[in-house]
Amino acid sequence: PKRDLEPEEMLRIIFEYAAKIANERTLENVLMLMADMGRAMIVSDRCTVWLLDKHKDELWSKVAHGLDEIRIPSSAGLVGYSVMNDRAVFIDDAYTNEEYKSFLEHGALRTDQQTGYRTQALMVIPFKNSEGEIMGAYQAINKLTASGQFSAKDMEYLTLAASYAGKSLESALLTNEIEETQKEIIFRMGEIGESRSKETGNHVKRVAEYSYLIALGLGLGQEEADLLKMASPMHDIGKVAIPDAVLNKPGKLTDEEFKLMQNHTVIGYNLLKNSSRRILKTAALVAYEHHEKWNGRGYPRGISGEDIHIYGRITAIADVFDALGSERVYKKAWELDRILQLFQEERGQHFDPAVVDVFFEQLPALLRAREEYADV
Ligand code: C2E
Ligand code: FE
Repeated sequence: PKRDLEPEEMLRIIFEYAAKIANERTLENVLMLMADMGRAMIVSDRCTVWLLDKHKDELWSKVAHGLDEIRIPSSAGLVGYSVMNDRAVFIDDAYTNEEYKSFLEHGALRTDQQTGYRTQALMVIPFKNSEGEIMGAYQAINKLTASGQFSAKDMEYLTLAASYAGKSLESALLTNEIEETQKEIIFRMGEIGESRSKETGNHVKRVAEYSYLIALGLGLGQEEADLLKMASPMHDIGKVAIPDAVLNKPGKLTDEEFKLMQNHTVIGYNLLKNSSRRILKTAALVAYEHHEKWNGRGYPRGISGEDIHIYGRITAIADVFDALGSERVYKKAWELDRILQLFQEERGQHFDPAVVDVFFEQLPALLRAREEYADV
């Protein structure tokens, strides 16, 4: 077993983490640093920071980089109990505890069954924001010192850790809220462009996801992939200006109608191009170039090859992949085999051959994304 920290070790950990947390902007990182800080301070095996999402009535947490967040109903388990009742909970052995038996059976014990972990000592401490409202809870599992039990001192330490992180946490939460709102506005704008959002509201999300995966597969880097993911949902925003009779025409468009339809690229470009914001500038480019073709037979400008920006070449394939796989007012959804055949045929014609190659490499991931955002 380990031992509890000496005062100078405790101070070193507090200084170290308080400095790191103060410099952190993203919510995910603040949460993970808080968890690490708590774990180090009380010498526990595991430590998780849970946040209360009042809008959804849920508790959520982020355990590792890249992994999705976990969400539970805010009344579920011991954490829910602790947060709802503003009470710290100490348990010496989760397997023999009677008082919280039903909570444990739905929480820690069930998780243990799935993972083979053995939860013994468990502690949950709610924490508050500067207004005194409960923000969430610290959950610690298995004390690594000889006693094997969490003590009132440990509770004090976690409360201290929460108060050190409090300001950074609140500001990261606010930033997160703003960013989530921005993303949602972008998707909603994209859906307006689709203008048939009732049936294919997920189209823009799928195109975003495909573009992102292909960008990463091409080696564009995380930042550009993220940028394209946020910008690509707006590729068809110019369709807002296309009359319903054309946009929703059940049959094939006449030449004249198709000419009109093609304007959605230029209209979208003009709507967005004057922004100085990187996401909107990128969206303008994508709106402008997503119907250009590698062989120069696309529109609106008929540019070809690498004159088409790589973002345009990526979104082109993402858009067509989704359009072919979905039902439209003017066509049925295609079988996957037929879609793949078209991409083989159009490799080097409609589409950049390098992007088609990455498309095929990434196909399993693309199909998972298609499942995840399927129209229901
Ligand atoms: P969209 O429905 O989102 O389709 C995007 C692109 O997917 C199309 O660009 C085209 O490259 C590809 N695509 C979609 N369906 C088919 C298909 O059945 N066969 C093949 N080979 N490719 C397909 P495109 O052609 O430039 O069309 C742009 C937009 O114009 C379409 O967006 C759609 O909103 C509209 N549109 C195109 N053709 C028709 C039509 O016959 N009737 C109606 N009502 N709208 C059409
Ligand atoms: Fe389009």
